[in-house]
Amino acid sequence: MLKISEKVLEYFPYKEVRPFQNEFINVIFEAISEGKSVAIEGSNGLGKTAAALSACLPVAHEKNLKIIYLAKTHRQHERVIEELKAISRKVSVSGISLRGRREMCLHPLVTKRSADARMAMEICELLKNREQCPYYTKINADFEFCSSLLWEMSKHPYKASEILRMCKTQGFCPYEFTKLLMNEVDVVALSYLYVFDPIIRSRFLKNLETPMRKLVLIVDEAHNLPDMAIDVASDELSLFSIRQAEKEAKEFNYDDVVFFCRKLRKIIEAIIERIKDEEYVPPKFLLDLLKSKANVENPQTFFDYLHSVGNTIRHALLAEGKFPRSYIHRLGEFFLKWIETSENPSFTHVITKYKTRTGTVSAKLEIVSLDPSKITTEVFNNVYASVVMSGTLEPLDSYAQVIALPEETVMHAVSSPFPPEHILALACKGVTTAMKQRTKEMYRKLVQRIAEVARYTPANVGVFAASFDVLEGLLDAGIEYAIDKPLFYEYPNMKSKENERMIGKFKSYAEKGGAVLLGVQGGRSSEGVDYPGNEMNSVVVVGVPYAEPSPRVKAQIRYYEERFQGKGREYGYILPALKKASQAAGRPIRTFKDRGAIIFLDYRFATFYCQRFLPSWIRRNMKTLPDEDGRIAKELILFFGFNSQ
Ligand code: SF4
Repeated sequence: MLKISEKVLEYFPYKEVRPFQNEFINVIFEAISEGKSVAIEGSNGLGKTAAALSACLPVAHEKNLKIIYLAKTHRQHERVIEELKAISRKVSVSGISLRGRREMCLHPLVTKRSADARMAMEICELLKNREQCPYYTKINADFEFCSSLLWEMSKHPYKASEILRMCKTQGFCPYEFTKLLMNEVDVVALSYLYVFDPIIRSRFLKNLETPMRKLVLIVDEAHNLPDMAIDVASDELSLFSIRQAEKEAKEFNYDDVVFFCRKLRKIIEAIIERIKDEEYVPPKFLLDLLKSKANVENPQTFFDYLHSVGNTIRHALLAEGKFPRSYIHRLGEFFLKWIETSENPSFTHVITKYKTRTGTVSAKLEIVSLDPSKITTEVFNNVYASVVMSGTLEPLDSYAQVIALPEETVMHAVSSPFPPEHILALACKGVTTAMKQRTKEMYRKLVQRIAEVARYTPANVGVFAASFDVLEGLLDAGIEYAIDKPLFYEYPNMKSKENERMIGKFKSYAEKGGAVLLGVQGGRSSEGVDYPGNEMNSVVVVGVPYAEPSPRVKAQIRYYEERFQGKGREYGYILPALKKASQAAGRPIRTFKDRGAIIFLDYRFATFYCQRFLPSWIRRNMKTLPDEDGRIAKELILFFGFNSQ
C-alpha cells in the first residue's frame, strides 16, 4: 500500500484508509504542495471529500491559504462540514458551509419574492442601503455581542443550518453573519456560483477579504462544471417577461417603452408562427428589425435608457414598501448583452418555442455561450491551486481542454476500489434508441428487456431513458403493465419537491420487494441522488442521450471544431451525452459495499467508440450480450443469486 505523508495523516480523520484512497490523497497532496492544480477522477465510495480535505489542509495551514470547497447541493456542503468535524477531533480546524442569500435571509421580500440569486442580491443591497432590513441593522447595533460570538464560532466547523438556527434566535441576518465568519475560518463550503459567476464572485471575494492567489479551490462533482459555466455566461428573455414589461410600462406611463414592447412581442410572435422549436437568430437581423419596426435608431442608447427606467421603477417600488422587480430593467439588461455578444464567436443567438406547464405555446430569446473556458479560465489561472474531482471526468485531457485548466495541471484517474465481482455491466445488442430505429416494435423490445431486469433484480431498479420522448415511448409501449413491480416516473417540468417525494416513495420499496423508477439521463433522478444498498440494485440505461441537432448544438460543434481541430463533434456532442449516461449508470454503486448491475440497452454502448468515454470502472467490467431473450435474466441470476421464478 502506498504510504501517506505524516503531515496528511495528522489530519486524516479515520483509522483505516480505504483501498486506493491513499493514491487519491497522495496525488492531491503532492500537486498542491507544489502549487499545482490537479484534475482527478475517483469513483464513488472512495471517500473523496475526507481525502481531498486531509490532503489540502496541511498545505493550507502551512502556507496560510484558505480552502474554498465548491459543490452543487446543500447536502454535499453539509457533508464537507461533517468531515471537518471528524478532522477537528484530531487537529484544530474550522469551517462553515454557506447557502445562497435566499436560504440564509430572514427578510420576506427576499425569501418569498426573489426569483434567483442575482435578484436576491440586488434587493438585499437596496434594503441595506435604505436601512430597511432590521436583521442587518441588529448586527451593527449588537456589535460587541456579535463579535464575541464570531470569535467563538471561528474555532470550529459549523453547518449553514446550525448558523441559521443560531442567528434566528439572536435576530441577526444569518447571511451577513456568515459573511463575517467566513473571513476567520479555514474552509468555506458553498455553491459553484460564488466563484464562477463573475458578478457574484467580485462581491464574495470582497467579503472574504482573501485574494484569489491565497485560495485553494476544491471543485467537487466537477463534471458539472462545463454546463454550469455555459449557464452562467448565457442569458434568456421570455415572451412572458416582454408582456410583463409592457404592462409595467403602461402602469408607469412610459409610452415609448409600451410601443417598443408591443413591437418586440409582435416580431417574436411572427417568428414562432413559422418555426418548429428552435431557430438561429442573427443578432444584427433582430437589431435591424427593431430599428425598422420599433423605431430603435440607436440600440445602445435605447437599451441603456430601458435599464435606467427599470432602475427608477425599482427604487419607486421599494420606497412604497413593494417588491422592487422591474421587467423593463430585465429587458434593458438582456438587450445590452445581446449587443455586447453580437459579434462574439463564442456566443450564438436563438429563439426557442416551447410549451409552458399549463400547455400554452410560448417562446424565449436566448444568448447561448459556447465556451465554458471563458468563465473558468480566470478562476483557475488566479487561485493558488485547485483540485477538480469527480467520478466521471475521463477522458481527462479533453475535460482539461474544454474548461482550460492551467497547462501544468496534474491529471490522474484513480483505479477503481470496487472488487470486479461487485459490478455487472452489460451492453445489449439488438436494441437502440437511434432516431431512425424508434419503431413501436423497438419500444416493445426495450420494454421486454426492462421487464426482464425488473423480474430478476432482488429489489429496486432505476431505468433512465435517453430523453423524455424515449420515456414516453416506453410508457406507450406498456412498461407499466409489463413489469411486476410498482412504477414511478418523472415527467417534463416536474417540480423539484414533487420529484423528491417520488424518489422518497420509490426508495421506501427497497425493503418491500422493490419498485421501478423511470427517469431521464441528465435529469433530477439520475444525477446527484444516491441510491445505496437495495435502494437501487440494477440500473438500466436506455439509449445514448445524444442531443437533438438543434441550432445551438450545431453551433457548439462548429465552435469547438474551430478551437480544437478535429474534436468539434467529440466535445460538443459525444462527450456531454456519454457523461449523462455515465452518471446514470453509476447510481447503484454509491458505497464501497454496494453491488450493482448496470444494463445498457443500446448496441452503441457495445462499441469501442462509446465505451472509451465511459469511466474505467464500468468499462473494465463490460460484457456484450447478443440479441436474445433471457440472456439478461441468466446474467442477473448468476450475479444476484436471486431467482424470482
Ligand atoms: S441583510 Fe440579510 S436579512 Fe436583510 S435582506 Fe439582506 S440577506 Fe436578508
